[in-house]
Amino acid sequence: MTELAEVTERDLPPSPPQALARVAPDADTTAGPHDVDMATIVELCKRRGLIFQSSEIYGGLRGAWDFGPLGAALKDNVKAAWKRAMVQLRDDVVALDAAILMHPRVWEASGHVEGFTDPLVECTSCNRRYRADQMESNKAGDPYCPECGGKEFTEPRAFNLMFRTFVGPTEDTSSQVWMRPETAQAMFVDFAHVQLTSRQKVPFGIAQVGKSFRNEITPKNFIFRVREFEQMEMEFFVRPGADEAWHDYWIAERWDWYIGLGMRPENLRIRPHGTAELSHYAKATVDVEYRFPFAWSELEGIANRTDFDLRRHAQFSGKDLSYYEQERDERYVPYVIEPAAGVERSALAFLVDSYREETATAASGKEERRTVLRLHHALAPIKVAVLPLSRNDKLVPTAREVNDLLKPRLVTQYDDAGSIGKRYRRQDEVGTPFCVTVDFQTVEEDRAVTVRDRDSMSQDRVAIEQLPRYLADRLDLFT
Ligand code: ATP
Repeated sequence: MTELAEVTERDLPPSPPQALARVAPDADTTAGPHDVDMATIVELCKRRGLIFQSSEIYGGLRGAWDFGPLGAALKDNVKAAWKRAMVQLRDDVVALDAAILMHPRVWEASGHVEGFTDPLVECTSCNRRYRADQMESNKAGDPYCPECGGKEFTEPRAFNLMFRTFVGPTEDTSSQVWMRPETAQAMFVDFAHVQLTSRQKVPFGIAQVGKSFRNEITPKNFIFRVREFEQMEMEFFVRPGADEAWHDYWIAERWDWYIGLGMRPENLRIRPHGTAELSHYAKATVDVEYRFPFAWSELEGIANRTDFDLRRHAQFSGKDLSYYEQERDERYVPYVIEPAAGVERSALAFLVDSYREETATAASGKEERRTVLRLHHALAPIKVAVLPLSRNDKLVPTAREVNDLLKPRLVTQYDDAGSIGKRYRRQDEVGTPFCVTVDFQTVEEDRAVTVRDRDSMSQDRVAIEQLPRYLADRLDLFT
């Protein structure tokens, strides 16, 4: 291929990206004191039906979790916020929803069949298996087996993390396929088709949200490391030479996404990969790390994948995956910048970050302890709770009427079980931004309701007819 013309303004990001501070590749991962520990989060999620073990009645399945009604809503909200920022608000990114099962050659071309492995060791006393690079160590720094205390392990061997299955009725190598371990490859394989049909010009991106599967040796830390999870990935195709500027641009964009959704900046950091850690396809990668209670750990990876993937798929498929730029009459293989985030990890980080136990003064003037999730409104599973003061026959029809008024516009929950204080606490615990209470004054005097704000706990009296407007003005449903 001939030398490409110089990169100019139109190849580059719209404005110079803000320079974000980066920690050293080997920065200390100790989390330090935290507002909450993992056991408390796990317990809250179970008790409120957000997230619980898969197949629990059979004793569960390791590395698999189910999201109950509120957890499913939280996850949907995380994905919706991502799609809004990454696709809807942009003219230069289009969406894809590709099949999980792909042609097996895809994973040969991508390098996964050969290299998507973790080092596996086995304790020689109890035969428990561990990831060699994630072993527990004693004070002297020597790895030990948390199961039996053993200190002898087999030599590490490469263990491929891809799940395999078979298509059709025969189970032999000709029908073997892989469960995708990442969503990214479909964006490369479909690059030419999507580019042509969407009439996008480089620089542009293809984004996808969907399930991925990894046979992790040691799933752990609740939903942080699981065997079945969802990814939110975007492949942004750029002119070679413009890749470094776009890498910086996407790091800044992704940082802003987390902060825009209320994450505390002191709990986020950017850590570049050191040379030894860098994947075979990457020129540079940074992780966006979150200060989880167990350690600073990866939330999202943002990689400069160069032209590795398109070249490999062109080579393995025999199809041309280069891009023709009409303006310059040039043909080239684009470079790719990839922000790759996990839905479960993000949801967990948002839960941890928003969790507070606090003493607050209730409207009655009484001091009370409460647990509250100060979730961004866009992420809150329920936006408004409608609560009749009691189950009194006089109150219920009006409370139902209020709920019916709001339901078409917002996710509401009608709750009349238990004391009003208890119901406020239940809503605080799952992060509901507003509670609307219907009392006797509502039905006997003013057709107005009390609206309680989750964070300030302040209360306003609002006419029922004004309620949709009042809530629309205060709910921050977009970032
Ligand atoms: P790790 O080093 O933690 O195994 P990774 O670097 O292999 O992660 P990527 O391949 O970069 O992860 O995947 C992108 C994102 O997908 C991760 O940042 C994470 O949010 C999510 N992810 C990856 N593996 C898992 C998993 N086993 N469970 C939950 N989320 C995951």
